[in-house]
Amino acid sequence: MLIVGAGACGLVAALAARAQGAEALVLERDRTPTGSTSLSSGFIPAPATRFQHAIGVHDDTPDLLAADILAKTKHSADAHEALRLARAIGPALEWLADAHGIPFHVLDGFRYPGHGRLRMHAVPERTGAALEARLLRAATAADVSIVTEAHATDLFADTAGRVHGVRVTRPDGRTEDIGCGALVLACNGYGGAPDLVRRHIPDLADAIYFGHPGNQGDALRWGDELGAEARDLGACQGHGSVAHPHGIPITWALMMEGGIQVNTLGRRFWNEHEGYSEAAVAVLRQPGGIAFGIHDARLHELGMTFEDYRQAEATGAIRHASDIAQLAADCALPADALAATLTDVQALARAQGTDAFGRHFTAPPLAAPYCAVRVTGALFHTQGGLLVDDDARVLRGNGTVLPNLFAGGGAARGVSGNAVWGYLSGNGLLAAVGYGILAGTAAARV
Ligand SMILES: Cc1cc2nc3c(=O)[nH]c(=O)nc-3n(C[C@H](O)[C@H](O)[C@H](O)COP(=O)(O)OP(=O)(O)OC[C@H]3O[C@@H](n4cnc5c(N)ncnc54)[C@H](O)[C@@H]3O)c2cc1C
Repeated sequence: MLIVGAGACGLVAALAARAQGAEALVLERDRTPTGSTSLSSGFIPAPATRFQHAIGVHDDTPDLLAADILAKTKHSADAHEALRLARAIGPALEWLADAHGIPFHVLDGFRYPGHGRLRMHAVPERTGAALEARLLRAATAADVSIVTEAHATDLFADTAGRVHGVRVTRPDGRTEDIGCGALVLACNGYGGAPDLVRRHIPDLADAIYFGHPGNQGDALRWGDELGAEARDLGACQGHGSVAHPHGIPITWALMMEGGIQVNTLGRRFWNEHEGYSEAAVAVLRQPGGIAFGIHDARLHELGMTFEDYRQAEATGAIRHASDIAQLAADCALPADALAATLTDVQALARAQGTDAFGRHFTAPPLAAPYCAVRVTGALFHTQGGLLVDDDARVLRGNGTVLPNLFAGGGAARGVSGNAVWGYLSGNGLLAAVGYGILAGTAAARV
């Protein structure tokens, strides 16, 4: 079988196929496989795992994860699909640990917005780059062939929609045609294709794209040519807290634990607890598309437990100020407005109150010394894609399956509804690893 794309989805699909005894060849356009997987934080939500048991979480279930996914999308995601992935992901992580020595643990101490349980799993290094590196090592050990600098440009299929092979273009322009018994599209979505982003996600058309530039909607294009159904193309993961101009994502944990965002007028503009994905749109709507995340020394300590934040600190993106006047001066914010904003949120925090945007304040009040980081909104990856069945087999518009074509990760329709606000933390790798295992297993049988 052939797999296009050597990110988390493609590598997990290859490992799953090898476990079934199939020969798997992965085609990757880059010289060194990285994908959006390497750019990510590498956090994967999974219920009912032994890694959760290890930290005392015994009451999580696939139904609870699926319910959280659906609640985030205001029930606009497909319930069957949410449960399909919620059921697949726990066993997938345990299998990666047992069969391939990829150790996972559950992040403790901070619950991601919208998740009812502590269920974010990570490898020890807590980065997507380490997750990708560990998957690559496992794939090599399992005799998966990975051909790099192999840009898949065309599919060969017959009139019944059966795929017979893939044309690959090499960096020097040479082409090679490679036959296959089954094909898995693991080449992510279309975040790297500005025309498609403008068409499907106009709110983020001018946002910085933070994902892998090689993800240019090839799966969508090929699916279209084969009569496949694509859904929810407006879905994506945005992020409303990317340090600017440093280009480093700042953990949303700071907002969830008491931080706030203000615009360049020194005023808050929304309920930060709605989520970091929709924050991208909220921030881009502010003057200059800029906001400042404001937190304090207590939250700075929390931030320093995250690799991205440590980098932001090292590059000077985090500004430190002993009082509000200095904070306003450092950020060129109107001092009176900023002071009024901070006085309001401190009072709300003391009273455990709810503000006019609907944010409920439960964390301790922000206190001097303060920190601030100048941020903008970004697009991380797209979540709409090809409609697939329980085996990750690609479906046509009339509900019939294409005989030997599979899709997963960002190439498939995810579980984030059809808008930027439907993304629940971890939906990206949930679909990459979850569909990777389903697609690899089923494609090997084909
Ligand atoms: C900054 C950031 C942080 C994130 N944090 C998280 C997180 O903590 N948790 C989470 O769940 N999600 C997160 N995500 C999303 C997550 O990274 C993606 O959902 C996930 O990595 C998708 O995996 P994939 O295998 O589908 O795609 P990718 O990892 O992008 O792999 C696709 C591969 O296909 C290759 N390719 C594309 N087209 C072709 C072609 N025609 N021929 C050959 N090769 C091709 C690409 O080069 C790429 O290597 C984050 C994303 C970003 C950008």
